[in-house]
Amino acid sequence: MNLSDQHTALTVCLEIVASRQHDYAKDGIPLLETLKSAVKSGVTIEQSLYQLFHKQLSAYERYVATGQLDSEPIESRLKDAANYLGLFNFYLTQKKELHAAWSSHFAGLPCIYQSNPDLSTSITHRAVCQRCSILTWLAHH
Ligand SMILES: [Zn+2]
Repeated sequence: MNLSDQHTALTVCLEIVASRQHDYAKDGIPLLETLKSAVKSGVTIEQSLYQLFHKQLSAYERYVATGQLDSEPIESRLKDAANYLGLFNFYLTQKKELHAAWSSHFAGLPCIYQSNPDLSTSITHRAVCQRCSILTWLAHH
């Protein structure tokens, strides 16, 4: 593979990373699903993205050790791994803007306990109301 081929391969890889960003920008807001998952699991966004990356890395290690993978092809795993690294970098560089966009998004959603103020301060509320658990999480991160 000459330098030109390598550049083409890298470009293809980066294009995939760029196109996959849309998968992570539901409602035009990036990483909403990652945020929901992180809050639900009680981890940070960095930890959540690392877990996703690590799954691909483990498959990569299995491929190197055994020469094969049962599920997805190695190429697909490598693209996903590159994607998670891209998202990680995106999060690190846009953290402030992302948190502001997420806060504004969830603040605009209705609280499921709005009609029952007695429950609004209980732990149960935050455990079952995604809007408020995410807003609480955002206030502390
Ligand atoms: Zn609520």
